[in-house]
Amino acid sequence: MMTLYLKRGKEESLRRFHPWIFSGAVHHVDGQPAEGDLVRVVTAEGDFMAIGHWQIGSIAVRVLTFDDEAVDADFWLRRLACALSVRVSTGIAGRADNTTFRLVHGEGDSLPGLVIDVYGRTAVLQAHSVGMHMCRHEIAAALQKLEGLQIDNIFYKSETTLPFKAELGQENGFLVGGDADDVAIENGLRFHIDWLRGQKTGFFVDQRDNRAIVEHYSQGRSVLNMFCYTGGFSVYAMRGGAVKVHSVDSSAKAVELVNANVALNFPNDTRHKAFAEDAFRFLQQMDEAYDLIILDPPAFAKHKDALRNALKGYTRLNQRAFDKIRPGGILFTFSCSQAVSKEQFRTAVFTAAALSRRNVRILHQLHQPADHPINIYHPEGEYLKGLVLYVE
Ligand code: SAH
Repeated sequence: MMTLYLKRGKEESLRRFHPWIFSGAVHHVDGQPAEGDLVRVVTAEGDFMAIGHWQIGSIAVRVLTFDDEAVDADFWLRRLACALSVRVSTGIAGRADNTTFRLVHGEGDSLPGLVIDVYGRTAVLQAHSVGMHMCRHEIAAALQKLEGLQIDNIFYKSETTLPFKAELGQENGFLVGGDADDVAIENGLRFHIDWLRGQKTGFFVDQRDNRAIVEHYSQGRSVLNMFCYTGGFSVYAMRGGAVKVHSVDSSAKAVELVNANVALNFPNDTRHKAFAEDAFRFLQQMDEAYDLIILDPPAFAKHKDALRNALKGYTRLNQRAFDKIRPGGILFTFSCSQAVSKEQFRTAVFTAAALSRRNVRILHQLHQPADHPINIYHPEGEYLKGLVLYVE
């Protein structure tokens, strides 16, 4: 393993266990690591600090361990076993009525650059770094050895998440198995998961707890689910006793998916209808009023430079919902942009409420669930925030 020397005094963030080393902190590397290689990180004085994956770019190293230990088959197994025990002990995994969960959430599980979502007996593995890409077979082997989790299929899905410039020629496909049942269970509801063509790993696992809150408020209400994708919120609203559920997404494929998932859980139920339309246009032109509206748009700001426009986008979208929601209605509004802080999002929503002159109370403040944990030393891991609002 090659040794990376930090500049003098640049080990401070590592002493606080932050898992990234920026290129500006690097003095030199003994040797010429290729992207994805393991490097041993030492201070200017030569004291051991960490071991991590070397990267090209502003983040030069993603730390795998702050201990001087081997990164081998046993290491992967220990890390995955620890991640699984978090999910089991929080009551998310190990249940017949919930086979859908995130097993590994990158830095949140001390595995920067790696995401693993579990759908029944299939795991979808996603690498966000070349280092994790190189380790995919070792990680897949560890996954199969995990006690307390039966995985027969491992689908690798990193075509769009790996650095383009690394030119790895990677393809999406099964590393293990391939004959997978595509239905997974979330809180007793069934969903088709399209890991091949779907967004992310095929499903938005991170809204499970928030969908349950929508279910709780749906009794007797007419519900509008904007940016529905696979229709998670819609199906929960139906189980919760909504009188009517309308789902909207600009993608025709998403509309197909939501219809299929509604049919899977509530065959021949006429309460649901889906529309392939732009959300902004739909909200402006709709002549029906709803008692419960969900706004779960894609990340408006993927980077800090897009922040101003993103905040305007959130205000514009929320204002349209405030303008149209029935008196006494409940608005669920989310932002999954990591670059937008909780406070900034709140301000954007407050502005929208004021512009539409509605009296609004916060009922709940929502966030990502326990299977998307935030490493306390890596606050950047916090991304999902939401508000449940009572609109007078
Ligand atoms: N709420 C979903 C996840 C939403 S992902 C869930 O619980 O699973 C964001 C979705 O917004 C995508 O499906 C995308 O197709 C859709 N989308 C993006 N821009 C849109 C727009 N302008 N109008 C409507 N839908 C849009």
